[in-house]
Amino acid sequence: MSISNLPRIRLAHLPTPLEPMENLSRLLDGPNLWIKRDDCTGLSTGGNKTRKLEFLMAEAVSQGADVVVTVGATQSNHTRQTAAFAARLGLACHIVLLDVKGSPDLSYNRSGNVFLLHLHGATIEHRDGAADANAAIDDAAARLRAQGRSPYVIPAGGSNATGALGYVDCAFELHEQAAKIGLAIGHVIHATGSSGTQAGLAAGFALVDAGIKLLGVTVRASREQQEEAVYRIALAVGAKIDPTALVRREAIAANSDYVGAGYGKLDSRVVEAMELFARHEGILLDPVYTGKCAAGLVDLVRNSTFAKDDNIVFLHTGGSAGSFGYISEFPYN
Ligand SMILES: *Cc1c(COP(=O)(O)O)cnc(C)c1O
Repeated sequence: MSISNLPRIRLAHLPTPLEPMENLSRLLDGPNLWIKRDDCTGLSTGGNKTRKLEFLMAEAVSQGADVVVTVGATQSNHTRQTAAFAARLGLACHIVLLDVKGSPDLSYNRSGNVFLLHLHGATIEHRDGAADANAAIDDAAARLRAQGRSPYVIPAGGSNATGALGYVDCAFELHEQAAKIGLAIGHVIHATGSSGTQAGLAAGFALVDAGIKLLGVTVRASREQQEEAVYRIALAVGAKIDPTALVRREAIAANSDYVGAGYGKLDSRVVEAMELFARHEGILLDPVYTGKCAAGLVDLVRNSTFAKDDNIVFLHTGGSAGSFGYISEFPYN
């Protein structure tokens, strides 16, 4: 049971730190809160897509691709990390941005991750938010092929069985880190979107029989939709490593109570959670993913959902660079 023989381009800064959040634990008077710093994976301010891209980009290179094509919402972190990884490998990068918010806000459309895409030299096309993401990247790839190029297409969020391998590896890494310091982790909580992160973690924890409860806080989908999407990818990535591995459906848990007004829509709970992390731990979250997950974590702790002696790990999946695209929605001036 090993992923070390699978093609991988090692660019991430690993292992990422596992640190206690003593101030927040004390302030909330709940369980012991820890943080796994996957916002520190490197490449253009880091984040969870870097781990997935180690496996996806290895596949792109082995297939002789000269351009990588992917898609995301206007302030997508995934597209930014893909553009940075491609730049590092000397590959071209073409990005399809879906205008899911329909906002004319200048900072949303130009700052944050969009600014960084330009800086990394990606070519960008904008599509309507209602456009089908897979059709849009297939279409872009077909145009590139017609020009004699060799595109490698990465689905939204890098979430397929290949990308999810990065989070199988993260599960192994966290399991090993915790063992080394004698930490019995009860729960891991993180933001879940395109589902590859949770799928990889679920498969990885199952493979090492970690006994850790995993909870994905959704940023858009309903609990049922999210769990089904995660389960599908978890089975596929588990089978890549060990055909006899079985991820149990009951091990896949999502919570959609913190979606609020929808994807990328800020609410006061998210602002409060971002301020708590920033002001008591010096840690930057983002308004779309980690802020929502942190709002969920804070609420669950306040409602005594976890035992007082539990060790909870908040997986920080990155995204703070996207915050600059949302500054006009924060109550600061
Ligand atoms: C993409 C992303 C997620 C969600 O990860 P998935 O694998 O798409 O579920 C969480 N946090 C941040 C900051 C992200 O960019």
